[in-house]
Amino acid sequence: MMQQSKRLGVGMTSQRTRDRMVGRLADQGINNINLLDVMRNTPRHLFIEEALAHRAYEDAALPIGQNQTISQPFVVALMTQVLLADGPLNSVLEIGTGCGYQTAILAQLVNRICTIERILSLQQNAEQRLRDLEFRNIEYAHGDGYKGWRARAPFDAIIITAAPRAIPEHLIDQLAIGGKMVLPVGDENDQSLQVVTKMDDGHEVKPLMPIRFVPLQPGILV
Ligand code: SAH
Repeated sequence: MMQQSKRLGVGMTSQRTRDRMVGRLADQGINNINLLDVMRNTPRHLFIEEALAHRAYEDAALPIGQNQTISQPFVVALMTQVLLADGPLNSVLEIGTGCGYQTAILAQLVNRICTIERILSLQQNAEQRLRDLEFRNIEYAHGDGYKGWRARAPFDAIIITAAPRAIPEHLIDQLAIGGKMVLPVGDENDQSLQVVTKMDDGHEVKPLMPIRFVPLQPGILV
């Protein structure tokens, strides 16, 4: 899609481990070819601190500082696949930028993405990293994503990468009709991945699987 050559060039040494990661994702039921290609070509190790970079292609969540984690590759793939299931997406809102890896994957598969992170240092690092990788279709914000991004709504999809206790129903207002929101819901002992689809007369909720994310937290941290 965009600036592929540059992204392909970085971290070529990890190409084989990345190929293996994508093979595992396919075995686990990820079958969107474009998504698998993007994950094959995106240098996940650049999103993780150097001391942990050798573990970047394991199917594990890893710490990114500030008590937060980069989501495991399978979860990134599954959430992305669910959002893309009904065809191309024009605009997407991501709540919880973290290290920016999920942002980078989505940015290569949709037209525009707006991403919000509440912890300033994570937000700034992710923005710098994604700008260095020459992404041009991402809009960044340091803020409380719980409120969404009203000025950019409606979105074709919303992805939340931290878990609220209950579905934030007000965010459904920021979805286009037919749009989907994928998110973890619940507390640390009982959490599930859920898909909310907005219809012209309400919305539908579908639970996908048990999962474990860090909690969605109120307010911002500077
Ligand atoms: N997709 C990210 C996931 C990071 S973990 C990655 O793979 O790196 C979840 C992130 O959500 C954390 O960075 C956390 O600070 C952020 N977060 C939690 N509550 C938030 C809120 N209300 N608004 C914006 N970001 C939030």
